[in-house]
Amino acid sequence: MEKIKLGISTCLLGENVRYDGGHKLDRFLTDTLGQYVEYVPVCPEVECGLPIPREAMHLEGDPDSPRLVTIRTKQDMTDRLVQWARKHVADLEKEDLCGFIFKSDSPSSGMERVKVYNEKGMPVKKGVGMFAKIFMDHFPLLPVEEEGRLHDPGLRENFVERIFTLKRWREVLGKKESRGNVVDFHTRHKLLILSHSSKHYQIMGKLVAKAKDLPLKELYQKYQTLLMESLYLKTSPKKNANVLQHLMGYFKDQLSSDEKKELLEVIDHYRQEYIPLIVPITLIQHYVRKYDQPYLKQQVYLNPHPLELQLRNHV
Ligand code: SF4
Repeated sequence: MEKIKLGISTCLLGENVRYDGGHKLDRFLTDTLGQYVEYVPVCPEVECGLPIPREAMHLEGDPDSPRLVTIRTKQDMTDRLVQWARKHVADLEKEDLCGFIFKSDSPSSGMERVKVYNEKGMPVKKGVGMFAKIFMDHFPLLPVEEEGRLHDPGLRENFVERIFTLKRWREVLGKKESRGNVVDFHTRHKLLILSHSSKHYQIMGKLVAKAKDLPLKELYQKYQTLLMESLYLKTSPKKNANVLQHLMGYFKDQLSSDEKKELLEVIDHYRQEYIPLIVPITLIQHYVRKYDQPYLKQQVYLNPHPLELQLRNHV
């Protein structure tokens, strides 16, 4: 797979673009995820023409439509940043991004819970950075996250799973449009979708089953929306345990009674959060090889992102 293109707040890459001339280098993003990703850096404040260093800014007024104002001299930068951002998100369409990682708490780049100050100078953490809001409105289905939230193992796994899946879907979009390609993609991703949402699993199954009755464009569009919606929903030990048992059903007749007992035990220990997901997955991968299960070998659920990222190693 070629590298996944992701937008990122420039300061997270270690560039000295912050108001104080500093940066916010995040080593997981550069050194670990960076091995699989090509970053497209965006610093809204510098790219809209503000200098480094510059006066610090914050959001003021109505949390739903705040103004971006410098803190000391009260210069209103809203129009300047909004005009630049509207043009820039249109330019970013060419980049074919699979997601964006924003710098948390920034009045320009923060994705959520950014401080917005009222006329008395009291903050409420209800704002969205000015550029981040325009970006997310323009690309509503793209996976987005903040560097701070990516330190949470569950959120990290969810985000990485989404960007890798979107990349695989973009590869389908790069081929000639055909119902067969959508069906093939769905067949490989079925259990991954089930691990996020049984409701989407059913709806998407029905959509693919009646693929012949739909115009191709509509099929692609509906499938893509449902895919991104489903993966946005978090997995849980209960949902994963359900998928693991589903997987076991494919070779339960071939397993010896000892193997069955051991696998059920491991799944149960995972469900109770004593062991990480990688343990039952590794055991199932072993049986998939041992009992030669071609359908399961192609299931992305067993291998949705590089093992080296260790995203399924947490409890
Ligand atoms: S948070 Fe955004 S605007 Fe601020 S320095 Fe980083 S990239 Fe630039």
